[in-house]
Amino acid sequence: MLPPLGPSPLPLLDPLSRQPVNDVRRPAPAPALSAVRLVTRFSVIQEPPRTENKTVTTTTATFTNGPLSPFGVDPSRIEDAFPAPEYRGAQKQALSDIRAAFEAGNDVVLVRAPTGSGKSLLARAIAGCAREGSQASATQPIDAFYTTPQVSQLDDVASDSLLDDLSIIRGKNNYDCILPGETDTPVDQAPCVREREFECQVKHRCPYFSDRAIAANRRIAAMTLAYFMQTAGSDVFGTRDVVVIDEAHGLGEWAEMYATIDLRPDTVPVWDARKPPQVDDLEDAAAYAQGLIQAADRRLSELRGNAEIDPEEAAERDRLQQLRSDLKWFREEYQDPEAATTWVVDQPDGEGSPVTVKPLDPERFLGHTVWERGNKFALLSATILNKDAFCRNVGLDPERVALVDVPHTFPIENRPLYDVTQGKMTYEHREETLPKIARVLVRLMAHHLDEKGLVHCHSYAIKEELERLLNEFGVGSRIRSHEKADRDGQLAAWQRSDDPNVFLSVKMEEALDLEGDLCRWQLLCKAPYPNTRDSRVERRLEDGQWAWYYRTALRTVIQACGRVVRAPDDYGATYLADDSLLDLFERARVDMPDWFAEQVDRMTTPDLPEFDPGAATVGASNRSRRSQRNQSSGSGGGSSRSSSRSKRSPMADVWDTE
Ligand code: SF4
Repeated sequence: MLPPLGPSPLPLLDPLSRQPVNDVRRPAPAPALSAVRLVTRFSVIQEPPRTENKTVTTTTATFTNGPLSPFGVDPSRIEDAFPAPEYRGAQKQALSDIRAAFEAGNDVVLVRAPTGSGKSLLARAIAGCAREGSQASATQPIDAFYTTPQVSQLDDVASDSLLDDLSIIRGKNNYDCILPGETDTPVDQAPCVREREFECQVKHRCPYFSDRAIAANRRIAAMTLAYFMQTAGSDVFGTRDVVVIDEAHGLGEWAEMYATIDLRPDTVPVWDARKPPQVDDLEDAAAYAQGLIQAADRRLSELRGNAEIDPEEAAERDRLQQLRSDLKWFREEYQDPEAATTWVVDQPDGEGSPVTVKPLDPERFLGHTVWERGNKFALLSATILNKDAFCRNVGLDPERVALVDVPHTFPIENRPLYDVTQGKMTYEHREETLPKIARVLVRLMAHHLDEKGLVHCHSYAIKEELERLLNEFGVGSRIRSHEKADRDGQLAAWQRSDDPNVFLSVKMEEALDLEGDLCRWQLLCKAPYPNTRDSRVERRLEDGQWAWYYRTALRTVIQACGRVVRAPDDYGATYLADDSLLDLFERARVDMPDWFAEQVDRMTTPDLPEFDPGAATVGASNRSRRSQRNQSSGSGGGSSRSSSRSKRSPMADVWDTE
């Protein structure tokens, strides 16, 4: 385990909302945790062969009442811990395979489970195998964590009655203070945060602290991955026997994003006093960081001198503490020749403009925030495409990791792919190809005259040009879209409407459940390759990591395909408009799950109506007016602070948007 952290918990910011999260401590910056060390720890845990698990006598015997497992987790419980009254699809086989993988002595089991396989139920069954208090010594970890990077996934868990024994805790900004006069104040800005030595008389009834206490004492504590990582080293949520990470495919990228240090006016309270110089390399960045740390220290001393601070000052203090902690971590890592982290720095607009400092390899970061938090791990996703590459990316030894493949049980004819390619959508060819895609979209709208459709535009620039062309063609009455600022609201409005409108979206390939008539068809405008202007992508490609590049794009395509077919009797068509998607399928074929390769092999060219804008909008304007009337007469639906779905994009905690 890492050495204990300092006595003062540092408020942390959510990496995306940049809101202070909690009474948690920053992942320890200094101690070196390499993949080698991680493997060593696991090797120790795993040393005895699995057939001896139930009979080995250890010192823990004196503390136990029930069957003793020296490894904690007891995979034989997995069937009993499955929460549904009956199995469907391939769940029974999946449980059997997961059990066998743990019993074979693996520390980590990757469960590649496609849409509709009931991943959350499998996750609950795995968590139920964790060692119980009655079987453990005072120092042995017990119970389980369930965590996911997707807020929407946590919301789904919260609303699933089969999962009601998962005890959910969210960040402080999801709860309101209950003190008189403060009932509209989120907990992260409440008097206990603002005022030094404030002692709350009703803390035992505080919704945040109540939920936290309950989660801390229940068998399965459920939280977002952001909250989970931020509680590394905390006394409340330390280490448990089993950790289950749902939607885990982006773990490496997510950790990189989380560990990225953005230096810009809204994250650097002392920006005006300390604008960045020209930052050409890491040496420049480290020097600038040192100056910022000193400026942050001075301002923090001023704030700490006040007996009471207002909410704005509390927020400033939190940002300063976060900034200081991040920058010290970066400087220490950068100056340590033994450190495993590789850093890259971006300042696209030169002197005086924002600077981004990014760690390239998240393994060390994940070591402390994730891998040291449990004895056994299960990572679930439809799109963990390559076991070895995934393990390398997140700092795991593939020798100690098993992959369980769950087959797709939805009929393949319900999830067809169609080739409507119109050319390449690379930057050089886009001007020529995009108008053709706009025309084929009009033909698709005519083909699906009464059905809602989704267009994955890939970028706001493509979305805007497509929207302009569609308006020019006269089909704008059936088109809906969003900007960065209103994506939640526009998405919700499109979903609520019964009209067969087409939604032009950006970065909605994940975490979107469009079951049934919510959407019957979708179009992918561009192969979703990572942005080569990102310094991390650039660096990886310089290192020849082209397989990673193709795999990342394929993963996004597979995720996108899963948006419109959500149940065995659901159906939805996916159309591919960019030639590069076909090229991608060839290059990344080796990493395709069989069930997706089958879809690709069955891909056909559809028989679409001729281009006729009039045929694409027949009746649409009447339906649209009717729908608007219905919506405006609706209740509007209030929302509670604890339900994050209504306030945030379901994708907001997954990937940043352009
Ligand atoms: S602990 Fe007390 S002051 Fe703090 S948020 Fe809860 S009720 Fe408000």
